[in-house]
Order: sequence, then structure tokens, then C-alpha cells
Amino acid sequence: MSKVDREHPLQGQTALITGASSGMGEVVARRFATAGAAVGVNYHSHSEAATKIVEGIKRNGGKAVALQADVSAEEKVHSLFATFMEAFGRIDILVANAGIQMDAPAAEMAVEQWRRVLDVNLTGQFLCAREAIRCFDQQKPSPRSKAAGKIICMSSVHQLIPWAGHVNYAASKGGLMLMMKTLAQETAQKRIRVNGIAPGAIRTPINRAAWKTPEAEADLLKLIPYGRIGEPEDVAEAALWLASDLSDYVTGATLFVDGGMALYPEFRDAG
Ligand code: NAD
Repeated sequence: MSKVDREHPLQGQTALITGASSGMGEVVARRFATAGAAVGVNYHSHSEAATKIVEGIKRNGGKAVALQADVSAEEKVHSLFATFMEAFGRIDILVANAGIQMDAPAAEMAVEQWRRVLDVNLTGQFLCAREAIRCFDQQKPSPRSKAAGKIICMSSVHQLIPWAGHVNYAASKGGLMLMMKTLAQETAQKRIRVNGIAPGAIRTPINRAAWKTPEAEADLLKLIPYGRIGEPEDVAEAALWLASDLSDYVTGATLFVDGGMALYPEFRDAG
């Protein structure tokens, strides 16, 4: 195995990160930039936040562009990739990260709530992955990476753990798991690697209610054997490893970054 530059494992590569104006997407974009990648910071509606992230990356000597698109809209995804390719000429890495929650007990859930979450979390990741595969197919192999392309799907522990009151979200992440594996199976012979990350509870805007008060945080910690809430940096390091040649023989895998949340912690004391 040839040596990977461990300080800049993504040197000379390009990466598109969706939903990157906040939370994990933002931290992944910043981390990939310090690892040497030129990054596309996709955002849906927070253009000021995306611009600030891009400026910060540039100030540190990195390359970045802010790209608006709703990932659930096919035409917008086409333009997103076209603009990214205009800016950087090729794509080596996609982190399909954009996701939303619209919670309600099933009996009270409007079909629009069901559809919107499936549209963004599942169809949105499909549309971006499909476009990335098309680009990987058309471009020359990179001298910078052993793989012809890498896709990372941001899933959740709820691809595995059922979640009452969040049936749309759990269904989207369960679907995402088999989408990721199927794409990995379909594209491995083209040397495209497709993997997933299943974060547990990570301190970001999407789940602020779960950690914003000491009581809520204490309740949440009961579900986390490792005894702390995850930080976006925990996920960014996992994404960096999956995007780099250090994981070159890994495809179709889900990396759980959850402090043990998926280990059935309620069984800890049951002998
Ligand atoms: P976040 O709300 O900060 O990030 C989600 C991002 O997606 C936001 O920037 C939002 O603007 C963007 N987005 C929403 N709809 C979009 C659309 N239609 N097109 C483009 N972008 C859109 O929260 P986060 O925690 O950083 O979430 C990132 C991903 O991680 C999501 O897929 C989420 O399901 C997943 N996740 C989060 C946690 C957690 O504990 N925070 C746990 C498991 C999985």
C-alpha cells in the first residue's frame, strides 16, 4: 500500500458536502479543507452561514465555494453538480449529509411531513449519489486517490434503532442503509467506494431540544454508554478516514459513531 500523507490525506482532491452550512456538514467541510481538499459547501437557505464558512476556509489557505441547492429537487441537483464541476473540474468525494426531522406521532403525522423527510433524507441522497457516480464514470482516474470516487452517506443510529414519534426519519435512514449497500455493490467493480456513517447523538442544531437543558442532557446520557454527547468533530474524523485512501478496502460499510448508543445500553445491568 502506497503511503498516505497523514497530515493532508485529501491533498489535491475535491469534495462536495451537502447541508454544509451548519452542524456536521460544516465541520466536515472545514476538516476536509484542512486535509487538503477543495470543498463545495452546499446549503439550502443559509447563504450567510455558507459564505462565512467558505471565507474561513480561504483565509486558512484552502479552496472552497458555496453552492445553493435543495437536494430533494432533481434539477437543482443537476445544477449543483454542474456548478461544482465548473469550479473544480472534477469530483473525488461526495458527502451526502443534508437531512431533516419533522417529528410527530404516526397518528398525527401529515403525509406532507412523511414525504418531505423521505424527499430530503432518502431521495436527496439518491439524487446526489447518482450524479456523483455519473461524474466518476466520466472523469479520468485521479492520481491522488486509489478509488475512482468515494461517497459517504450520512445515516443515523436510526437505520437500526426504531424511533417512536419519528417514523418518517427512521424509515428514511433505514432506506438509506440499503441504498448505500446496493450502490456499493453496484459500483465496486468501477472502484467506487460507498459507505455510511451512523451518528448517535451529536451536538448540532437538528437535536438541540435533546441537549439544551441539563435535564434533557441527563436523559440523553442514559442512552450513551460512553458517557458523553458526541461532537461534530467526532463525525468529521470518521468521514475523513472513509474519504481517504486509509480506508481503501472498505465499501458498503456503516461506521457507527455513537458512543455505544446502538449497543442496547438498557441491557447493561440485565444479567
Ligand atoms: P443540521 O440541521 O445542522 O444539518 C442539516 C443540514 O441540512 C442543514 O444545514 C440544513 O440546512 C440542510 N438541509 C436541510 N434540507 C436541505 C435540502 N433540502 N437541501 C440541502 N440542504 C438541506 O443537523 P446535523 O445534525 O448536522 O445533520 C446532518 C446529518 O446528520 C443529517 O442527515 C442528520 O439526519 C444526520 N444525523 C444527525 C444526528 C445528530 O445527533 N445531530 C444523528 C444522526 C444523524
